[in-house]
Amino acid sequence: PTDLNALCDEYLRLAYHGLRAKDKTFNAYFSTDLDTSLGQVSMIPQDMGRVLLNLFTNAFYAVQQRQKEAGTLEYKPTVTVSTRCADGQAEVTVSDNGTGIPKAVQQKIFQPFFTTKPTGEGTGLGLSMAYDIVTKGHNGTLEMESKEGEGTTFIITLPA
Ligand code: ADP
Ligand code: MG
Repeated sequence: PTDLNALCDEYLRLAYHGLRAKDKTFNAYFSTDLDTSLGQVSMIPQDMGRVLLNLFTNAFYAVQQRQKEAGTLEYKPTVTVSTRCADGQAEVTVSDNGTGIPKAVQQKIFQPFFTTKPTGEGTGLGLSMAYDIVTKGHNGTLEMESKEGEGTTFIITLPA
C-alpha cells in the first residue's frame, strides 16, 4: 500500500530538476490536481516510481522542445499530473502541452528501443518498461492520447 499522490508529487519534482540540471535556462510550470480520497494503492513503489519518472521526464522534454521551437513566441510550458479514484480504480493522468506525437510515431512509442531523441538523451526503453510494469506487473492499463503540435496525455489505471 502506497500513497500514490505523494509518489506523483515526488517524481514530478525529481523529473523537473533532472532536466534543469542539464539545462539551467529551462523553466516549466507544473501543476498537480491530486484526489485526496485516493488513499493507499497497492503497488511496487520502486517500479511505479520508474514509470512516473519516465512519463514526467518525457513530458518535460516535450515542453522543452516546443519551447525551443516557439522561440520568442508566447508559450507557457506546462506539465500537469492529476489523480482520481473512479470505478474502484486509481487513475493517474500526466498531461503536457509539448510537441505532441505525430500519428505515424504514435504506434511505435511502446516498442523497446524506439526513440526520437538524439543519442545519449534517450534509450527508447522508458515506455516499453512502463507498459510492462503497469500491465503485467500491476494488472493495470496505460493509454496515450496525443496531437502533434498540441500536447500529449498518458493515463495509468491501477486496480485499487
Ligand atoms: P526515450 O524517452 O528514451 O526516447 P521512451 O520510451 O520514454 O524513450 O519514449 C519513446 C518516444 O516516445 C520518445 O522518444 C518520443 O518520441 C515519444 N514520446 C514519449 N512521451 C512523449 C511526450 N510526452 N511528448 C512527445 N513525445 C513523447
Ligand atoms: Mg523516456
